[in-house]
Amino acid sequence: MPIFEYCCEECGKKFEKLIYRDSEEAELVCPDCGQQHLHRELSTFAAHTSGAPADRAPRCPSSGGMCPTPGACGMN
Ligand SMILES: [Zn+2]
Repeated sequence: MPIFEYCCEECGKKFEKLIYRDSEEAELVCPDCGQQHLHRELSTFAAHTSGAPADRAPRCPSSGGMCPTPGACGMN
């Protein structure tokens, strides 16, 4: 059962979703803002388990002033 990780381009929300059929992906919306501007994160799931430090940086820009890596972005 494929679990894909998605990132909302509107609000930066990341979420995982079980996809049973391709048509389900077309109907996906962001659970936070309801927009359909999502892109699939293909490799982040594996990166989580491997724990490679270089892969820890989020590819999706997070909004709301939450910095996952304090000091690395100059905003802290
Ligand atoms: Zn969103």
